Amino acid sequence: MFRLVCINCGAEYNQNEVIYRCGKCGHLLAVEYDFDTIDVSRREWDSRPLKLWRYKELLPVSREPVTLQEGGTPLYHLKTIGEELGLKELYAKHEGMNPSGSFKDRGMTVGVSMALQLGMKTVACASTGNTSASLAQYAAKAGIPSVVLLPAGKVALGKVAQALMHGAKVIAIRGNFDRALEMVHDLCIKEGLYLLNSVNPYRLEGQKTIGFEAIDQLGGVPDRMVLPVGNAGNISAVHKGLGELIKLGFIDSMPMMTGVQAEGSRPVADAISKKLPEVIPDKNPETIATAIRIGAPVNAEKALRAIRETNGTALSVTDEEILAMQRDLARKEGVGVEPASAASVAGIKKMAEEGLLDKDERIVCVVTGHLLKDPETVIRQCEPPTEIDADLESLLSVLR
Ligand SMILES: *Cc1c(COP(=O)(O)O)cnc(C)c1O
Ligand SMILES: [Zn+2]
Repeated sequence: MFRLVCINCGAEYNQNEVIYRCGKCGHLLAVEYDFDTIDVSRREWDSRPLKLWRYKELLPVSREPVTLQEGGTPLYHLKTIGEELGLKELYAKHEGMNPSGSFKDRGMTVGVSMALQLGMKTVACASTGNTSASLAQYAAKAGIPSVVLLPAGKVALGKVAQALMHGAKVIAIRGNFDRALEMVHDLCIKEGLYLLNSVNPYRLEGQKTIGFEAIDQLGGVPDRMVLPVGNAGNISAVHKGLGELIKLGFIDSMPMMTGVQAEGSRPVADAISKKLPEVIPDKNPETIATAIRIGAPVNAEKALRAIRETNGTALSVTDEEILAMQRDLARKEGVGVEPASAASVAGIKKMAEEGLLDKDERIVCVVTGHLLKDPETVIRQCEPPTEIDADLESLLSVLR
């Protein structure tokens, strides 16, 4: 049993309503469970495979879910990078290992299942790329059509390829992500499509399981959880989920929620450093990390609370720092991620170097998407392959 509750005025909405924002004040909604009716134990969860649906008692879906077996992503100990920074317990949760190659799949298995549960016939989203790839894939699995709006020319190649191949109706608009989101929101309200951006509270329900898994894999609560921040849905989701584990008595402390943005797209980091009550949108966000190129983060209100309530922080890193960390993860740890994902670890590097954290902290960085999502940015950073004549002598001469 759950209700949708406005995080601002507390207005309540029934679980059968198709609604994205509070009808009274326009603020965000969140799923609230009736904890008296939730009957599950840690032991019961532990007996199930490490996958997202292990946690079904804390998810809103009551029908058979639309699933591609998302979740259960690896948690890697970053030994080499950690040693260089003096951090013994630095981990990366590799969300690029989900079915479509990003954590968006956690939101979509729940979101598309809810679309069917609510009787919706078509799903839609605006996207910097990964949301569209994931939505296309889950809509295909569900057998329903999907419509995705992308900012023209600003989406990494692999993501467009996925959305197209999985059969979404892909529309590139001459405008940025924030504009695409306004447009798709209007479209959904007007035409009755189901909106699956992270304003949709069910998306965040799926994404909160990143935190559940990290705790199960570590065998305890980390001191800090670090996430790249675009629309700020994921950091809000992980925080919400861990709060629920506290309510259930499964854990007794919260990690410091830490958000990392790109220098050219950092409204959340600014709001934290300047102690603003809310974020001031950035009209022209720019960064090579296209997945976090967002000037008006939809979930900012939730994210600021998450960060402040846990004594966390938000900071920004430059595109150069992001790309350098993408290479370090790839070459020193064997972890292949897209640029936005490297931002979380780049943020920790900066905090460690500037003395902004305790080096004994147990830190989990969420790395959000796979290396192959953005092959063009990778190729531009690397030496091209050495081309030689097809004989052994040439081969030996280039290897010498
Ligand atoms: C969506 C996405 C983000 C940003 O997540 P938000 O929930 O929008 O803050 C970061 N990295 C990657 C790879 C993404 O796809
Ligand atoms: Zn309200």
